[in-house]
Amino acid sequence: MTPRYVIKRIALTHCKRGPASCARCREVARERVCLLDTLPRAHPEAARPMIAVREGDVTVWRTYDVVGEFASVEEARERARATGIADEVVDLTDPP
Ligand SMILES: [Zn+2]
Repeated sequence: MTPRYVIKRIALTHCKRGPASCARCREVARERVCLLDTLPRAHPEAARPMIAVREGDVTVWRTYDVVGEFASVEEARERARATGIADEVVDLTDPP
């Protein structure tokens, strides 16, 4: 099973209009290193974006919350260590 927290390069979105018609979406659309909580427990009814992760031989979709944005993978790992979740983190910034 893929760990709860995932480090991944993602482009954030601001609203459903998207970069084509929203200036704020264009500002946040560049990819950045993010630490994601893929099993968020707060507000389970909230609408969230989803990412694909591997569960053994199959791909499953999980919702996520962004724990933080970082300048590098190492900074994301440092945050994970500082908050005691390092054992539950997988780095997907360089997928096989
Ligand atoms: Zn927008």
